[in-house]
Amino acid sequence: MAYRATIGLEIHAELRTRTKMFCDCANDPDETRPNVNACPICLAHPGTLPVINREAVRQVLRVGAAIGGELADESVFDRKSYFYPDIPKGYQISQYDKPLVSGGRLADVAITRVHLEEDTARSIHTDGKSLVDFNRAGVPLMELVTEPVIHDAETAGRFARELQLLLRTLEAGEANLEKGEMRIEANISVSDREGTFGTKVEVKNLNSFRAVERAIAYEIARQTKALEQGEPVVQETRGWNEAKQETFHQRFKEGSADYRYFPEPDLPKLFLLEIPDLVPDSIRASLPELPWERRDRYARELGLRDADAAFIAASVERSAFFDAVVGALDSDRALITLAANYLVSDLSGIYAKRGSESYETFDPASFAGLIRLTASGSLSSRGAKDTLVLLIEKGGEPEAVARAHGLLQIHDAEALGAIADSILDKEKQAVAEYKSGKQAALQYLVGKAMKESHGAGNPAALRKLLEEKLG
Ligand SMILES: [Zn+2]
Repeated sequence: MAYRATIGLEIHAELRTRTKMFCDCANDPDETRPNVNACPICLAHPGTLPVINREAVRQVLRVGAAIGGELADESVFDRKSYFYPDIPKGYQISQYDKPLVSGGRLADVAITRVHLEEDTARSIHTDGKSLVDFNRAGVPLMELVTEPVIHDAETAGRFARELQLLLRTLEAGEANLEKGEMRIEANISVSDREGTFGTKVEVKNLNSFRAVERAIAYEIARQTKALEQGEPVVQETRGWNEAKQETFHQRFKEGSADYRYFPEPDLPKLFLLEIPDLVPDSIRASLPELPWERRDRYARELGLRDADAAFIAASVERSAFFDAVVGALDSDRALITLAANYLVSDLSGIYAKRGSESYETFDPASFAGLIRLTASGSLSSRGAKDTLVLLIEKGGEPEAVARAHGLLQIHDAEALGAIADSILDKEKQAVAEYKSGKQAALQYLVGKAMKESHGAGNPAALRKLLEEKLG
């Protein structure tokens, strides 16, 4: 019997705004002192009233426009009632049946909706005590829900990576999984009958893309095995144990009816068509080049291989650096291809070894200069690699740096000619051997000439010169 897995994702992402969702408290993810960004509004003191953060609404609409979703004409916030120590109000302001965005598509996955809500506080459990930090309570939180149309772990991972890249491209958020700025929940079911869903299991605590993929693969295997053995799959919420690489039971799932949603009486209905910078045309006009458009441009206009285009476009900083290099190379296709090769292999290799990519401290014009020197043959590929390391470490003008370290190849025919003459003069025996038909002697002479040039001579040019001079 064939089993088929069906996966839907629910992804929460904190938005980058100056203030929180409904008050003037700073939205500062880097604040380390607890409870400094909290006020009577986000602590839900009686008599306070929330005010909607326009920038947060705009960012969710921008995400919606980017994924081709339908932007709401009208939208409403609702109370989602549940009691936890990290929800000071005893309810969360969220959106129920009138989300800001409906439909859309990203990385070939259909999206159900994108809505806006507020984040909870952060609970810290330590030494048998539970502490709560309210700095995060009320931070704007976007929730995106996909249709249950994913059937394997890789597709889910690809979708989540693309969403992170989109949020960064739109400057809507950093979406670091490790920092909890983006949180992914996967709903996984396995069915043995065509066209039906099995029992849905929700997996949480997925704080890396790898964890998303592994947890889904684990759940598919676990549920398939249970079905094969005739055991029921229980509807529940499970966590991911990174050390054991397995999911584990957390709690049995509540139905949505338990939340007792109702329209938030303290907030007005949003008539989005009446707010000029929030109407669909303004939102669409505000979008930058999107990740898939960028990959397409790299492949079609610049002729990069698909894998290189995808690698460069996968980071906002990396692609901004590359675009500046392209500009500095006057859109010369051959030079751009060479630059892409050096960026994808050598530069990324150096950054990978150092554990961080720091494009902001590397002048794109300097990298472009290095590419020109390499293309003209002034730098060998070895010399280019060494110069690249020097430029990253100390900066400077590429040609001057290469020259100062004796890495520049001598091209000048006169200088190479003088070296060749001096070698032919010194190596009389090798010359005689070559003239008597011993081809290997030429390689020996080239080697001597290279040594004489301190490695700066171009071996091919020297070989040609020596052959000419030997007649
Ligand atoms: Zn506040």
